[in-house]
Amino acid sequence: MKTLLLLVYMLAATRGAIAQNTQQDTQCVLERAAMVETIRAYARSYADVLGQQGLSERVLAAMGQTQRHLFVPGRSCSVAYADGPLPIGLGQTISQPFIVTLMTELADVAPDDVVLEVGTGSGYQAAVLAHLARKVCTIEIIPQLAEAAAKTLKDLSYDNVSVRLGDGYVGWPECGPFDAIVVTAALGQVPPPLIEQLKVGGRLVMPVGPAYTIQTLTVVEKTGPGQTTTRAVGHVRFVPFTRSKD
Ligand code: SAH
Repeated sequence: MKTLLLLVYMLAATRGAIAQNTQQDTQCVLERAAMVETIRAYARSYADVLGQQGLSERVLAAMGQTQRHLFVPGRSCSVAYADGPLPIGLGQTISQPFIVTLMTELADVAPDDVVLEVGTGSGYQAAVLAHLARKVCTIEIIPQLAEAAAKTLKDLSYDNVSVRLGDGYVGWPECGPFDAIVVTAALGQVPPPLIEQLKVGGRLVMPVGPAYTIQTLTVVEKTGPGQTTTRAVGHVRFVPFTRSKD
């Protein structure tokens, strides 16, 4: 009798937990859909940068498919899907979803592309890129963040993303050459090795400017071997690009 009661109790508890999870999942799906609409609306004020067509549906779909709440553990979905930056520990932040979308759009990623990200952080931007590219290589300088991001990406079956621990200033030649490079930490100038590893016709998107203040979101296009054009897109505020001591 006791065993039966325990079984009934366990079943009820499991069903309760499942119901609660389903409720949370539904809540997250709704919050994520709302975030995409906020981004779409916000993009209208960026018509000068994005053109009248605004953001591409392909990039918006990637934003709608990437579960940001799983990259910022311990946050409710209403916080995870608000259009703002969030701390991810060790003094680092995950960017505002609109900025992630804007940088992804400017990177102009095609389905067969190989993309480099410098500044893995939580792994969220890499996951967004993974929906759009054939292969994503991402470098993080802080060991704990590289490890945590690699685990999150693996748990979520992002099999086309490779995470490396190291200083992204030198890029990742063995993974390239790259069709697009996204740098998510601010530095005074674009690291020359990254331009070197960019294919002709490729694009690099990066906040250029001093640390702890406002930087210029910059798009560098490689127009030929040793040739580039540079475009300033707007003002952003990113965490600093740090260099390894060795
Ligand atoms: N793209 C991340 C957020 C980036 S925060 C996300 O989606 O969550 C910027 C990250 O760049 C931080 O994690 C910081 O540790 C890392 N970083 C700073 N300098 C770096 C460097 N030289 N090489 C690689 N990563 C660097």
